[in-house]
Amino acid sequence: MKVVVVGAGVAGTAAAWAARRAGAEVALVHDRAGASALASGAADWDRWQAAAGQHPLEADAVALASALGYSTDPCLVCTASGVLRPAQGRDRAVLDLTLLAGRRIGVADLARDDWDAELIARALSSSAWARTTETRFAPRALALSDVQHASSWDLAARFDDPGEREKLAAELVKGRGEVDAWLCGPWLGTAAGAHEALSQRVELPLGEALSPPGGAAGARFESARDALLEQAGIETRREAVSEVVVGSGRIDVHLAGGERWGADRLVLALGGVAAGGVRLDEARARFELSLGAPVTLQVDGLSTDAVSTLHGVDFAAHGPALLEQVGIATVGAAALGTPSVFVAGDVMADRPRTWLRALVTGLHAGRAAGG
Ligand SMILES: Cc1cc2nc3c(=O)[nH]c(=O)nc-3n(C[C@H](O)[C@H](O)[C@H](O)COP(=O)(O)OP(=O)(O)OC[C@H]3O[C@@H](n4cnc5c(N)ncnc54)[C@H](O)[C@@H]3O)c2cc1C
Repeated sequence: MKVVVVGAGVAGTAAAWAARRAGAEVALVHDRAGASALASGAADWDRWQAAAGQHPLEADAVALASALGYSTDPCLVCTASGVLRPAQGRDRAVLDLTLLAGRRIGVADLARDDWDAELIARALSSSAWARTTETRFAPRALALSDVQHASSWDLAARFDDPGEREKLAAELVKGRGEVDAWLCGPWLGTAAGAHEALSQRVELPLGEALSPPGGAAGARFESARDALLEQAGIETRREAVSEVVVGSGRIDVHLAGGERWGADRLVLALGGVAAGGVRLDEARARFELSLGAPVTLQVDGLSTDAVSTLHGVDFAAHGPALLEQVGIATVGAAALGTPSVFVAGDVMADRPRTWLRALVTGLHAGRAAGG
């Protein structure tokens, strides 16, 4: 069985991993960075503002999330503007405040344009959670040079280097006895292992606030993903797919450079509107995929043609939520009407765009395709 997966976000990675474990020969193709490479480091099942408790996860989902550097224990995380929020999981470099209730937390104070330690400490200290648990946050200056204008991604990459990491560790170690834990910005490395090495050296709980789009959490996902795919023996190619042609018993995947790959089964894990997997053809006011494929785009259970007027998609009737709903219509993990094509993640219609849903739908699509 030959399975081709298009997309290397959380969903495509999970699909490729699951199809390989089901015994299929798997090839994966992807081009631009998707939402998974832009994400914050929090992992939710539903949009967190609407989340109703914890969603139970199967063992494979927990194991795969862990291999991608994520914990799936319920946690309390914060943004770089000092907003606290619950999550169902997190990049392990993100600080979980759950076990730090009642403690003294130092907020790493670096002279940076995108990080105001004093304001963050004040915002967190005045949260209902901190007041109820008597948790204290206070800024503490770190003497590190050349940090002001580096982007948060560049600063995180700097601490991948053991020598640079040691300079940060030496500053954090000075807080021992005065703070019980450290909250840093999203700078603790872009490679897997950098955060763990720092924690061991400092011997205090420490972690990051959530990342801005395209920050350290996304970079760590990409590095963990590449290692996982290589270890699983999955061939990967960085190139756009322009079209997939589904014949009886065979699928032709047309790469933008002109090459064609044959497959028995296909998984489309293209991401949603945010990542460009689904886009709006403004001239025709119609949604379309980033590649040609014999699938149906759907919103609210109806084909996008059916929810459109003669003049195109009726935005007024559906509002901005349309952009989070539009995607490929499915029956279980398969594309509606095309049973050899499976669909996963943000490109599925009418599903919340969240990290854990992308992972779990990827596992389902990969198993179905590879079995
Ligand atoms: C800024 C931001 C913050 C977020 N914060 C959170 C959060 O706090 N909690 C949470 O749970 N979720 C969050 N999310 C959502 C979460 O990141 C996504 O739901 C999840 O990562 C989607 O994964 P995916 O694999 O479906 O798609 P993506 O990660 O978007 O991957 C799509 C893949 O498809 C590939 N692709 C598309 N078209 C083609 C083509 N024609 N040819 C080849 N390859 C193609 C792309 O290259 C990419 O590899 C956030 C998203 C963003 C953008």
